[in-house]
Amino acid sequence: MADPENTAIIIVAAGRGTRAGGDVPKQWREIGGRSVLARTVAAFAGCGRIVVVLHPDDMARGLAEFAGRVTLVAGGASRADSVRNALETLVSAGISRVLVHDGARPFVSSALIGRVTDALASAPAAAPALRVTDALWTGAGGYVTGTAPRDGLFRAQTPQGFRFPAILDAHRAHPGGAADDVEVALAAGLDVAIVEGEEENIKITLPGDFARAERMLKDRMDIRTGNGFDVHAFTEGDHVMLCGVRVAHTKALLGHSDADVGMHALTDAIYGALAAGDIGRHFPPSDPQWKGAASHIFLAHAAAIAREKGYGLSNADVTLICERPKIGPHAIDMARELARIAGADPDRISVKATTSERLGFTGREEGIAALATVTLVKS
Ligand code: MG
Repeated sequence: MADPENTAIIIVAAGRGTRAGGDVPKQWREIGGRSVLARTVAAFAGCGRIVVVLHPDDMARGLAEFAGRVTLVAGGASRADSVRNALETLVSAGISRVLVHDGARPFVSSALIGRVTDALASAPAAAPALRVTDALWTGAGGYVTGTAPRDGLFRAQTPQGFRFPAILDAHRAHPGGAADDVEVALAAGLDVAIVEGEEENIKITLPGDFARAERMLKDRMDIRTGNGFDVHAFTEGDHVMLCGVRVAHTKALLGHSDADVGMHALTDAIYGALAAGDIGRHFPPSDPQWKGAASHIFLAHAAAIAREKGYGLSNADVTLICERPKIGPHAIDMARELARIAGADPDRISVKATTSERLGFTGREEGIAALATVTLVKS
């Protein structure tokens, strides 16, 4: 999506959701081990600044779940009040576009988000919808009382996208009571473009929707593999940093940061699995603030991006290639340290080593090379 800096996403989750049953509001109920709302928020990772509107009673819970990742706003008496509260918090934020999305639609795809955003280039408002294809009836008392034409009828979805100043003015001028933001936009005379919605973009509303959501999750599991490779040359010194562990040695590794070759390979493997570039893109060597930086900053950053996007680290395998120092005595500590920094289970991280039989630059002890493979799973 273009220009995430100028885009805000308002996720409306202030309702009490009693129609879905259960003893907690539907946005906090879990599907596949994560709350509906956490999944919805993750669907917009990287799309822009995220504002989540919560019921005042849910603010503490929201802070616990989303601290530092999203802006939390207390909702109002109605959905329209909630959206307006969120819009008002963005007035000085330099936002040019805003998407308003239901917190109970966790299956929104990045393709759908992209279609809404793209449409805002040529219309002040755009929203996804599906054409009604079933016949429509009226009914009463258990009997069909008539038929209704379905021509030109659409089922509305979210995210509904707007140019920011236009929807802000529309909400300020609206008398209240609108079912959604398209209604507010229409009342202000804005043209609303229809983009193609998706059947999977369901709004979890009724008890049966949770079972359907669980089935959809099984079909959507996303498994990603990434690899990383790094080399650092030896220089004079008395220790090396390898996978976060200081190992005494007759040389040091040369690098802009602390030259932790193993941690760099693992970090790049995670970025690679996410198609999110590499260490050099996120922490440019030309930027003096990263000179001598501890490499755990890089690994923690990559792991945080994975988490934001909803991926868990299923496993990682790091191989260090060197004649010396001996890695074996430190391998378990290294794996434990990598797991701690990445927020992963220690038994899912492997660190092992090999020599290159005295061949090549590692064999001549000119430097150390490292390989890493990771698997990330989103479910
Ligand atoms: Mg490196």
